[in-house]
Amino acid sequence: MSDDLIYLDYAATTPVDPRVAEIMLAQMTMDGGFANPSSIHIAGRRASEVVERATRQLATLINCSAKELIWTSGASESNNLAILGAARNREHRGKHLISMPTEHKAVTDVLRALEKKGFEITWLQPDADGRLRIGDLADALRADTQLVSIMYVNNETGVIQDIKAIGALCRERDVLFHVDAAQGVGKLPFDLATLPVDMASMTAHKIYGPKGIGALYKADRPGCNVDPLLFGGGQQGRIRPGTLPVPLIAAFGLAARIAGENLQADFAHVQALNKRLWAGLSTIAGVLRNGSAEHSFPGILNVSIEDIEGESLLLALEPLCVSTGSACNSLKQEPSYVLRSLGRSDELAQSAIRFSFGRATTSAEIDFVIHRYRDAVGKLRQLAPGKAA
Ligand SMILES: *Cc1c(COP(=O)(O)O)cnc(C)c1O
Repeated sequence: MSDDLIYLDYAATTPVDPRVAEIMLAQMTMDGGFANPSSIHIAGRRASEVVERATRQLATLINCSAKELIWTSGASESNNLAILGAARNREHRGKHLISMPTEHKAVTDVLRALEKKGFEITWLQPDADGRLRIGDLADALRADTQLVSIMYVNNETGVIQDIKAIGALCRERDVLFHVDAAQGVGKLPFDLATLPVDMASMTAHKIYGPKGIGALYKADRPGCNVDPLLFGGGQQGRIRPGTLPVPLIAAFGLAARIAGENLQADFAHVQALNKRLWAGLSTIAGVLRNGSAEHSFPGILNVSIEDIEGESLLLALEPLCVSTGSACNSLKQEPSYVLRSLGRSDELAQSAIRFSFGRATTSAEIDFVIHRYRDAVGKLRQLAPGKAA
């Protein structure tokens, strides 16, 4: 990392792995897989082989079959395709869906759009740790429920949901289960051969791949169908038409392979950093961890602090690149709706900083963060001593 900034926002996006950047560039030019993979000539077949290899690489990471993957532009599109596509496909059977208010906007806003079209959504509140109570889901499932959408790892807090238990319940009641797995795939085990999941959204740019390429896993089982959102060519079984972006797909495939090979090492790395950061921050008066300590992906640590205003804190923390809440919402000064759902007051939610780290983060950087945070808090409390407890 260059010395003028410290990047601690891996949950917003990651830098592209140089090996991934290299393969992407190689598939763009005349001697690579530049051709249209739907063309039946030699160049087309070459491009098509590149796509097949990448599909196998991603399928291997999540243990599914290649024909269960649909390439999209990212997890936002995958979420839209899964939720809107399934809702439309199953509309005649019922118009009830279940989710949580702590989901990413690319889930909550899709569901709100459906709500306006006459669908009924049940929003299950998390417990104070940010987790779904399975009993609440059992109570909410109805005869006309068509889909449950619950994320794997929360993008603001790192909280992990019990996908296995949720999926088992959905199977029992014959309800489709969609998982926004954008923050989990490639970072935590996600084995679709054993998990009762019908659809899962993924994206390359959270695992050292490029932005603009994602995938939707759609189980090859009866009843698991989506109506397309786009119409055009016959690509991808007409579920998601459009010429396949071979360079981006090759890049996602390689990023998936590398993530799989490094899963344990990457996890151990961020776990050590998380412990170090929390050990340092938790000694500062008024600091609180947001979300479960036990059931969380350690690549994310979200902390609030009493008597400190978030925007000022963020500015005082420069050159640290961190975020308040999720990157998608940072232009607004509203307190995080995710943290509000966990029962945090407006003031505490507003003071939240999300630290997220990855492969290139060092323990020296973490030590600097702790020092910087302590310093910033000290200064801000001096400026507004009346506010301090
Ligand atoms: C980043 C993210 C998305 C959006 O992914 P894009 O590929 O940027 O569209 C959706 N859900 C979660 C949980 C995310 O972290």
